[in-house]
Amino acid sequence: KTAFTGFLNYIAEGSKHYKISLEKFVGRNFYNIFEYFSPANLPLLFQLKALVTHYSNVGKYFKDERLKAAFTFQNMYLGLSPYDAPATYSLLQYTELAEGVWFPMGGMYAGIEALTAVAERLGVRFVYNAPVKRLHVEGARVVSAETENSQVYEADIFVGNADLPYIYKDLLPPNAEADNLDKKLYTCSTIMFYWGVDKRYEQVAHHNIFLGGDYKASFDQIFNVHTLPEQPSFYVHAPARTDAAAAPEGQDTLYVLVPVGHMDQANRQDWDAMVNRARETVFARLEKEMGIHDLREHIKFEIVHTPITWKEKFNLAKGAAFGLSHNFWQVGFLRPQNRHAQYKNLYFAGASTHPGTGLPIVLLSAKLTTQRILKEARALAVKSAQALKAARAQKRSTSI
Ligand SMILES: Cc1cc2nc3c(=O)[nH]c(=O)nc-3n(C[C@H](O)[C@H](O)[C@H](O)COP(=O)(O)OP(=O)(O)OC[C@H]3O[C@@H](n4cnc5c(N)ncnc54)[C@H](O)[C@@H]3O)c2cc1C
Repeated sequence: KTAFTGFLNYIAEGSKHYKISLEKFVGRNFYNIFEYFSPANLPLLFQLKALVTHYSNVGKYFKDERLKAAFTFQNMYLGLSPYDAPATYSLLQYTELAEGVWFPMGGMYAGIEALTAVAERLGVRFVYNAPVKRLHVEGARVVSAETENSQVYEADIFVGNADLPYIYKDLLPPNAEADNLDKKLYTCSTIMFYWGVDKRYEQVAHHNIFLGGDYKASFDQIFNVHTLPEQPSFYVHAPARTDAAAAPEGQDTLYVLVPVGHMDQANRQDWDAMVNRARETVFARLEKEMGIHDLREHIKFEIVHTPITWKEKFNLAKGAAFGLSHNFWQVGFLRPQNRHAQYKNLYFAGASTHPGTGLPIVLLSAKLTTQRILKEARALAVKSAQALKAARAQKRSTSI
């Protein structure tokens, strides 16, 4: 029994987890709890090792601590610690190693341009630079969305794609569910450096992962203390290795992602100090491990994101870069639903609703939400008209 047989068995388990999860739990809507905890699904939850932590499970396949780290750090793609994440998430290693990593030529934004072009061809009109500041409700439905510049848009159905806890807290009238959501577990956040560099460092590959020294302690510091670990891990992305258009010839664009804790009002968090320490860590390790000693002088511009940026610019609750966490109690039917419980014409799509975070998964979320709307639209139209009539009648009688 060698590490290689361990690897093959581990990937085989990841493949099983991937197929069962996608077919039975991720790729479908759950309309009630009995569909989720059905007699057919319960044994599958055990097969998926949903109540075993990923790090303890990986020990069955690998003995060496470095291998255990190499086959669990991918949980960070979902903003999770392998010490908390269900062992189900070995499906990530399977997808990465067996299905492969994909990169859209032109960068991630090329995907957005392609999608908006399709939507526009089908008659969708986009209104840009118009943040919604309020959703107005009457009875059991949302009647309009009001933007920062006081434009009011009425509609039969609303789909909220901004972070779900933010919609409950900041866009809807005060509600108890917003407080419940605030108490849930959130994913980690990130400090980002986007660097334009007037030199090319060929030793940097397209994807580079640097793991910090004390693996367990670094996750504790991110997920329990909500800070930057003493010895941070980080990821360096050099897209020009695959896509020449990502940088001028002989120059480079690098982005560095350093996982950190999300914002936490109970702790003092000095983001400026953390940004400086993160930057110095990156320089030191690139020098030590890749022989890059002059990067500092060749950075021509830098953009920095911190958890504050994620919160203030993108409205991510607590600045948690990947939305609500994905532990056992916050996935499937137990995750906030893709339709509001009270306002029946308000749907959600995106990372903090079902099924969860990551680009393929949020696109799936959009598909599931669409399926749900199509299934419910007729009933909704009848009920909404009745509810609206009743709400207006009640309003009239109170004002009289
Ligand atoms: C640093 C980083 C790296 C990542 N890398 C990967 C990766 O390699 N692969 C992968 O699959 N996933 C990756 N992810 C995860 C992925 O980006 C997210 O899961 C995904 O973008 C979430 O999609 P969403 O639609 O829920 O939210 P978003 O993509 O955030 O879209 C929500 C939109 O709503 C807008 N909005 C917010 N509030 C309002 C308002 N009031 N009015 C109007 N608009 C509003 C926001 O500006 C935003 O454009 C990464 C995430 C981060 C942070």
